[in-house]
Amino acid sequence: MAEASILVVEDNEQNLELVLYLLEEAKLRVTVARTAEEARAAWGREVPSLVLLDMHLPGIDGMALVRELREDPRTVALPVVAVTAHAMRGDRERFLAGGCTGYIAKPIQPATFVDEVRAYLAGGQKNGGRS
Ligand code: MN
Repeated sequence: MAEASILVVEDNEQNLELVLYLLEEAKLRVTVARTAEEARAAWGREVPSLVLLDMHLPGIDGMALVRELREDPRTVALPVVAVTAHAMRGDRERFLAGGCTGYIAKPIQPATFVDEVRAYLAGGQKNGGRS
């Protein structure tokens, strides 16, 4: 199997810096997209192993991107983890119902973030992550 690759879609530089630091320290291969357009270009070039998707991107609801992924045969089964400050139960259910594989709440917890990502890479935590 090819080396796992993670596409991080995030427009906030501080969040992006932290996520990149943690993933790169864990020796995971990471690609970055800061906009929906960059995200589409990234998975158009190469379908990653996992997408970490900020649900609040400029000009688009993250759910719209998830719908696009689910409508494309290349990415229909691609694991997509919603990363968002919306920690309310209703949002988590909305994201999962809309096609997200799981959910990681912001602020990012450095002590557990990489373990959560690895669990999603391994195909676990399909019910929305730890509560
Ligand atoms: Mn954002």
